[in-house]
Amino acid sequence: MMPDSTILNFINGHYVEPKSKQWIDNICPATGKVVGKIANSNAEDVAAACLAAESAFESWSETPLEKRAHIMMKIADLIDQQMESLAVAESQDGGKPITRARNIEVPRAATNFRFFASAITQFSSEAHESVGQNAINITLRQPLGTVSCISPWNLPLYLFTWKVAPAIATGNCVVAKPSELTPRTASMLGEICNEAGLPPGVLNIIQGQGTTAGQAILEHPNIKAVSFTGGTATGEHVARVVAPQFKKLSLELGGKNPNIIFADCNYQKMLATTVQTSFANQGQICLCGSRIFVEQPIYEKFKTDLVTRAQSLKIGPPALPDTDLGAVVSQPHFDKVLSYMDIAKQEGTILCGGEPAVVPGHENGFFIKPTVIEVSSNRCRLNQEEIFGPVVTVMPFKSETELLGLANDVGFGLSATLWTRDLDRTMRLSKKIDAGVVWVNSWLMRDLRTPFGGFKNSGVGREGGLESLRFFTEPKNVCIAFENNLKNEP
Ligand code: NAD
Repeated sequence: MMPDSTILNFINGHYVEPKSKQWIDNICPATGKVVGKIANSNAEDVAAACLAAESAFESWSETPLEKRAHIMMKIADLIDQQMESLAVAESQDGGKPITRARNIEVPRAATNFRFFASAITQFSSEAHESVGQNAINITLRQPLGTVSCISPWNLPLYLFTWKVAPAIATGNCVVAKPSELTPRTASMLGEICNEAGLPPGVLNIIQGQGTTAGQAILEHPNIKAVSFTGGTATGEHVARVVAPQFKKLSLELGGKNPNIIFADCNYQKMLATTVQTSFANQGQICLCGSRIFVEQPIYEKFKTDLVTRAQSLKIGPPALPDTDLGAVVSQPHFDKVLSYMDIAKQEGTILCGGEPAVVPGHENGFFIKPTVIEVSSNRCRLNQEEIFGPVVTVMPFKSETELLGLANDVGFGLSATLWTRDLDRTMRLSKKIDAGVVWVNSWLMRDLRTPFGGFKNSGVGREGGLESLRFFTEPKNVCIAFENNLKNEP
């Protein structure tokens, strides 16, 4: 058992210090205080993790599917059993309200393991008979070997396990790196895996900064695939490093999602959900609807109602059960989000928020008031750049054609939210919106079988269900010729 305040690497089933003995501070976003230290790993640690993964691969890749599934189900059960300590760690690391970690995010990590444990037992490959040529083609779906999973800080365990679960279900061994801003729950997962009976080396967790630990993972020659979730600029760098090595690459990147509201919507449901799409997790969800477009007849009413709701949200210590908004993740991120407030004064009108919030007893925490800004053009920086904080813009539209132009006039294409009761309009717009996910009269509903990913600068490839299982396997066609003459044997 490691001390809670020291985050070590998890290699070959053991917690180990970084070989360089380099550490980075672990800073609590709600207090601004250093609460521990995190291994800052380098290429030597990654090499050790790769070695462990390679040794485990032969046996793990031949482990019967039922046994793999059984271990993964056990991991899910243990996550459930340790829900409270995981939720506390997640909330302290990221500044998010404990209720969110406890009720949504950590349970989803358990669901990820359960889903892929079950999915692997249902996964099938194809056969193609070459009729007339006396041959049958069988597609094998083989694990790749050592693969890497690199994840961000905003939904730490939830997104970490979203990659790790399908990777190990398909028989790969993993070198995974959580964000250096939120390392604790991934670290705790190591112990859970040991307890569940996952063989050593199947999951190795490397801690540390992206530029050192992450970069070493990208560059290691024996890593066959990189599954990356993070910012678009980092994704571009990852693609540049990984592409010449011809590794498989999946990129889940940033978003600047439109939240489109028509006058015929279910207004109360839309308003309640829009408060979530705008400010849940302090607006730090890649699927948040940060550009709100409202049909003209209800625009003024909506503006007033959204501002009233935003102002009534309780900003407070993440550990308190009635806190709606906690802290944003770090000082640099706090500074970045607030830097947009100067831009807001030039590009629009701040209707509420626009400044830090002072939480008594947590004066050095990174709290920001929920902010609504009215803009008159979609071509402004506020509407084109991912701010990734509790900040939304609002602007009216008059027609579907105008709306479609606004919604698609952005470099990203992760998701869109659409509020209308008109089925024809739903289909017309859903087909034309540039986004990997269109939520209609809903948001963040999860069906793990569906493809998830982005258009444009929001990424390349899809995760979820079969897409994940296919990503983490290599198809191999085996063509078997056969004799087709009936033998006239006595
Ligand atoms: P980030 O790009 O800074 O970091 C993501 C991960 O990459 C971290 O683990 C980091 O250490 C690592 N990293 C950084 N530099 C690296 C390098 N040179 N080589 C290898 N790894 C490196 O992103 P973030 O700030 O942690 O997360 C926020 C971003 O993630 C936002 O843009 C958000 O939209 C995006 N995001 C996207 C999705 C999605 O599914 N599309 C989901 C969640 C978050």
